[in-house]
Amino acid sequence: MAIKGYIWIKEGAVVDRLSKPITWAKGQVAGIYFQYGLGLYITSGCEGNHQEDSLHYVNNAFDIQLPPGALIDEIHDKIIDKLGDKYDVLINKKKRIFHIEYDPLKLNF
Ligand SMILES: [Zn+2]
Repeated sequence: MAIKGYIWIKEGAVVDRLSKPITWAKGQVAGIYFQYGLGLYITSGCEGNHQEDSLHYVNNAFDIQLPPGALIDEIHDKIIDKLGDKYDVLINKKKRIFHIEYDPLKLNF
């Protein structure tokens, strides 16, 4: 499924409408995954069944899954550092999924 150096897209996931900033983020995250010898497996893009106000619906979010055994906390930190404070990186440890969104209006306290 997730082979080094490749980006895989789950059947039904729509990623061709992603905004420019989130497409940029996808490339950055792929680079981090590749450093760890992982392929990037995208499980959700603009489609799907998300919260009503989800940024998925405005093409500003995508979800990716990590294979078992990958260093989930370390990779999480690297993604946050790389993307900066206009992005949110949420983590579902049980499902090993990162939700990454571009939120330029986000307030940081
Ligand atoms: Zn999501």
